Amino acid sequence: MSKATQGQPPAASQAGLKDTQKAQGYFLPCVCKPEMDLHIEAMRITSSKWQSTVIQKSQLSDTVVRLRLQKPAAFTYHAGQYVAFFQQGKQRCYSLASINSEPLLEFHIRRVPEGKVSTWLCDEVQEGDQLHFSDVRGDCFYIPNSQPLLLLATGTGLAPLYGIMRQAITQQHPAPIHIFHSCNDVESLYYRQELAAISAQYAHVTYDSCVVAATQQGDVLQGDMVQLLQQSQYDWAADDWAGWRVYLSGKPDILDQLRLLCLQKGVRNMDIYADAFT
Ligand SMILES: Cc1cc2nc3c(=O)[nH]c(=O)nc-3n(C[C@H](O)[C@H](O)[C@H](O)COP(=O)(O)OP(=O)(O)OC[C@H]3O[C@@H](n4cnc5c(N)ncnc54)[C@H](O)[C@@H]3O)c2cc1C
Repeated sequence: MSKATQGQPPAASQAGLKDTQKAQGYFLPCVCKPEMDLHIEAMRITSSKWQSTVIQKSQLSDTVVRLRLQKPAAFTYHAGQYVAFFQQGKQRCYSLASINSEPLLEFHIRRVPEGKVSTWLCDEVQEGDQLHFSDVRGDCFYIPNSQPLLLLATGTGLAPLYGIMRQAITQQHPAPIHIFHSCNDVESLYYRQELAAISAQYAHVTYDSCVVAATQQGDVLQGDMVQLLQQSQYDWAADDWAGWRVYLSGKPDILDQLRLLCLQKGVRNMDIYADAFT
């Protein structure tokens, strides 16, 4: 795919692409006969473009840190997209948990043992520091539609889906929204109160969580997320998922299993949006 930054690619060159890709100007150059001048972006941008100050740093769990940055005035994005942070010649992607109308950019960073950039962000970066990051990337984001939404997150995969859920609520999404968060243990589940409060406030929003380890918490299911969904542990999971739009985010191996399950449950491939944290 290439991306047009000015001009509209012809419809034939966007056939089969996701609507989030079309909305960003992506097209297939091999079948593109332009009908007007197009400005085309180089696909791999490796230099930082933005810099901003860390306004707030806090711990969401033992291993996850929340960073909130001042949003640069000209920076715009769709909820669910990500940026790459730059540090000493390395770049790593982190998803936005905030929504564009908010004055801060929010990130949830899991501290990966021995990980170069995540340990720097979690251990060394302080409030007041300047961070350098890329333009926004990714096509796993919310576009207004009338489909039921299923948001399945593992670990810090919650970040983009938290943004997508709040953007959908802000835009008065007319169908049910289910958000389901999976972690290894209860201590790692973060934003439980926030998500429970949102689902209590909005009748069409449901929040569930599960952990692999044993748990005494009555509101948290114990087990593997894929198996729990297969066994239809939840009322909504027993439904036929045809016509649903699904967002997946987190560990790549679990995402592959979830994608397969969604296809088996009748979700169209083009309705599955995924951000694997490779
Ligand atoms: C689209 C996208 C969005 C993402 N969003 C988020 C997010 O919101 N939050 C989040 O926490 N993460 C996110 N990630 C993951 C993130 O980009 C990083 O991959 C993660 O933070 C690890 O980076 P690191 O530099 O700390 O680790 P690295 O230094 O890259 O190391 C990763 C692991 O590999 C091991 N390793 C490194 N080098 C070697 C080697 N030579 N041999 C053997 N093992 C090695 C390390 O010990 C470590 O365990 C996202 C990824 C993608 C692709």
